[in-house]
Amino acid sequence: MVARVIPVDPFDLVIFGGTGDLARRKILPALCRRFADGQMPEGSRIIGAARAALDTDGFRQMIRKALDEFLGEDAPDADSQSRFVDALSYVKVDAASDDGWADLRGALREDVVRAFYFSVGPSLFGPIAAQLGAFNLVTPETRIVVEKPFGHDLETARALNQTLAAHFDETQIYRIDHYLGKETVQNLMAVRFANILFEPLWNSRFVDHVQITVAESVGVGGRGPYYDKSGAMRDMVQNHLMQLLCLIAMEPPHCFEPDAVRDEKLKVINALDPVSAGEAVRGQYTAGPNSASYLTEVETPDSLTESYVALKVGISNWRWKGTPFYLRTGKRLRSRSSEIAITFRDPPHSIFGEGAPWRANVLVIRLQPDEGMTLRVMIKEPGPGGMRLKDVALDMSFADALGEDMHIPDAYERLIMDVIRGNQTLFMRGDEVEAAWAWTDPIIDGWRKAADKPSEYDPFSSGPEDALMLMHRDGRKWREIR
Ligand code: NAP
Repeated sequence: MVARVIPVDPFDLVIFGGTGDLARRKILPALCRRFADGQMPEGSRIIGAARAALDTDGFRQMIRKALDEFLGEDAPDADSQSRFVDALSYVKVDAASDDGWADLRGALREDVVRAFYFSVGPSLFGPIAAQLGAFNLVTPETRIVVEKPFGHDLETARALNQTLAAHFDETQIYRIDHYLGKETVQNLMAVRFANILFEPLWNSRFVDHVQITVAESVGVGGRGPYYDKSGAMRDMVQNHLMQLLCLIAMEPPHCFEPDAVRDEKLKVINALDPVSAGEAVRGQYTAGPNSASYLTEVETPDSLTESYVALKVGISNWRWKGTPFYLRTGKRLRSRSSEIAITFRDPPHSIFGEGAPWRANVLVIRLQPDEGMTLRVMIKEPGPGGMRLKDVALDMSFADALGEDMHIPDAYERLIMDVIRGNQTLFMRGDEVEAAWAWTDPIIDGWRKAADKPSEYDPFSSGPEDALMLMHRDGRKWREIR
């Protein structure tokens, strides 16, 4: 199958932090793939910007190595990679002073789309925005891409929004949540809004509950001290899980345009019932035979930061009142797996008698691994002896359905090209980010005030006991993390 490629004009893309981990591991390999696919027209330029005393040759060598390391098995051919590297250049710029900004201005063209990717620590987002304004680098065709974390809480997110708004129109600001660029996450919208099948059942009359799981088997590893200042609520729930919840719960937008979609997502966040700190489960993984504990990895023996969160969330609107959404995410869990499971209610009456075994219909959308969908349905078990029922899976893996050779692009491939095209649909709007912080802040604040220890959980388990209880109390069960 040939992907439909929407052509773009030559552009200038400046990557602040072009020598950093994210740029080398994700952004530049993603751009190389787009280049090899013919989506980056001749004449486009990618400019790395950082403080390191490099010249263009040194930067190209660095990125050549990064491509070798990170492009993986389906890497574009050597010739494409070389031509891509030839489109790279480097300018030494210090975001925190005036050094290098005039050189950067000299390296840019006036009449093309100009994108600045802020792939630097969050403390530099504001200063870079201010310097772009001060050095007259902002043209009508300028866009900025702001990495996560977007603020640490509502107050800092609001302050950052105000700083950005002083120099850029909202239509120029692309707040990236790479989760939204994942093909399977976009598929949530396709499944819901391109099929008539699900929408009539998509409400509290027919849906018993929804489970959203984003589980990782890795611990915090080398990110320990950074992670410990954040925790699972800030690192995962406020952005990724909240976005998944929005895509599942939102009303159909009237069209697939950025503000139509984002308006509907915002309405969901605004309709979320508050959750108290005491109701939210948080956990920390302990040590295993071959793995260190959370406390050891973050090098803070008395840390109260959570590596796991589980929440029961209600949505107060006509569609969802009475259907709980259970959210959980954590590190060092049994496996790396993300899925959304929609469990439907039982039929109002069984014609097969009281004793007939019954399993609710469940629609599972697997985000990773083995992206796909499963619908559990009841059928008759073959054979004589009456009507015995059995639940079976209608199972579809996207790889099988689309063909093994179908390349599923990395989220960054999609998102960066959307920036160049000027399509903000998969980026968070300022009010959305603030609303998400406004909902999570009181929980985090309550935890801070209570100052009690998160529950412990075994490494490679399915999380702390309290999380199981969160479901048991409602007569429900988490799906197994496989
Ligand atoms: P990193 O490896 O520490 O890289 C930081 C980059 O910023 C380096 O290129 C550094 O180069 C540059 N830099 C630092 N101070 C600067 C200054 N004053 N002026 C200009 N450049 C400066 O960080 P990272 O992991 O790439 O993360 C970058 C951003 O992406 C962060 O906001 C992070 O939260 C976010 N993010 C990262 C990941 C990931 O997987 N790494 C995932 C999601 C989000 P010099 O020191 O040479 O200046």
